[in-house]
Amino acid sequence: MEIFKPCPFCGGRDLRITSRAQPCERTVNALGVDEPLCWYDAYVYCPQCNTRGPLAMGERGQNEVPSRKLAIELWNRRTYDV
Ligand SMILES: [Zn+2]
Repeated sequence: MEIFKPCPFCGGRDLRITSRAQPCERTVNALGVDEPLCWYDAYVYCPQCNTRGPLAMGERGQNEVPSRKLAIELWNRRTYDV
């Protein structure tokens, strides 16, 4: 279960998460072997006030799920916990 903190601007709790698969890039390593580079990005947003949280970029080899988890961590990170 994914737990979002409420929106820091409007207090909204009806939050959404968007994740997108980015186009794969073709890379070749030192041995001449293809290593496709595929990643996801994801962010939490608040449809009440149209605020977007920080963009979480999945690193090489990651799939969609860690990107979504990171997006929630970034959304939930606050300088002062209220
Ligand atoms: Zn909001």
